Amino acid sequence: MAAPTTKLNFWGVRGSTPTVDPATWRYGGNTPCLELEAPDGTQFILDCGTGLRMLGNRWTAPSGGESQGTHILITHYHWDHIQGVPFFAPLYIEKNEFQFYSFRSEFLGADSLKQVFEAQMAVPYFPVDMSVMNAKRKFQEVDGGESFKIGENKISTRWLNHPHGCLGFRIETTAGTVAYATDNEPGNEKLDESLRELAAGADIFINDAQFSPEQLVSTRKGWGHSSWLEGVKTARQAGAKTLVLFHHDPDSADRTVDSILRQARDEFDSVFAASEGMVITLGAPGEPVQAHMPGTRTALRREVQFQAEVCGLTEGGKEFMEETVVCDLSLQGAMITLKHLPQLQSELQVTMEAPGTNGEKRVQLKGYVVRVDDAAEKGHVAVGVVFTN
Ligand SMILES: [Zn+2]
Ligand SMILES: [Zn+2]
Repeated sequence: MAAPTTKLNFWGVRGSTPTVDPATWRYGGNTPCLELEAPDGTQFILDCGTGLRMLGNRWTAPSGGESQGTHILITHYHWDHIQGVPFFAPLYIEKNEFQFYSFRSEFLGADSLKQVFEAQMAVPYFPVDMSVMNAKRKFQEVDGGESFKIGENKISTRWLNHPHGCLGFRIETTAGTVAYATDNEPGNEKLDESLRELAAGADIFINDAQFSPEQLVSTRKGWGHSSWLEGVKTARQAGAKTLVLFHHDPDSADRTVDSILRQARDEFDSVFAASEGMVITLGAPGEPVQAHMPGTRTALRREVQFQAEVCGLTEGGKEFMEETVVCDLSLQGAMITLKHLPQLQSELQVTMEAPGTNGEKRVQLKGYVVRVDDAAEKGHVAVGVVFTN
């Protein structure tokens, strides 16, 4: 029998507001939404930012095994964590069923989450009202400090330091533990301790990394967010194994997130910057944590072949140069087959001979490695590159 695995899919990783700026395409512009598929078949959705729309377009009801269906955990009611709800297509199909969890807001009272949904679809903010949303919806109030089971999975909640309140969720599955701590600011002793409890020994600790450490102590103090450095500190103190930097600032271009990631990796062994489309698998044989990055994000692919010279850095940090053929090319990126194994997120330079109006022309493109897969050809890897120029 195959080992049980837990799959964590990142559908939205951006904080505060979605971004469509090309400088943010690589990490992605959708606001927070994660999907966790537990070994027992139960599906968890963490937050309902704009990433939820993409998940909805591919959603099928979880079934088989001991699946307990779909459970949607909402950390708090700020826009970026709920704005995907009206665009989640499965909510408009009668046979579907969803169980929502969130806290009773002191500003709203009983049925806070239900009220939030009704308010965001109220006249004149949205063209259709809640009555057309005919999937079965159940709402459960949860408080910080609770623990409960859903199928074989144990869920624990903690309050985090954020304006108007925010819950952190810890999900313990039979294949590993994920702690999800978006929107939180360090500096409140009691809530800092809650954050450590949430992250204690977790395989994956997802933490708010919106601001730089410098911003956090100056211009952005009191805004309710954290930094990569605070994430590293908490991960160390709590004994978390892998840190995922999350809730990227809408003004952070991909290069800024790259540099944040580099700094964090200098301080902590296992760090990823959350990226739209990233999938983390827990419990698979081999590496305890496997992360797959998204491929080129679609559009305008051509069935063409270009001779290319590729320069980059290997996993081991050595420079390499290799001749290859680029056969899956789009305006945004390419899949390239290489003998060398380049580092994820490292820079690649691809020089191609491309037909121009006056004969062959050399085109030099700079890009980043966003994905490394096994290639059909033995001894080779298929490398996904997103171009930045
Ligand atoms: Zn947020
Ligand atoms: Zn917030």
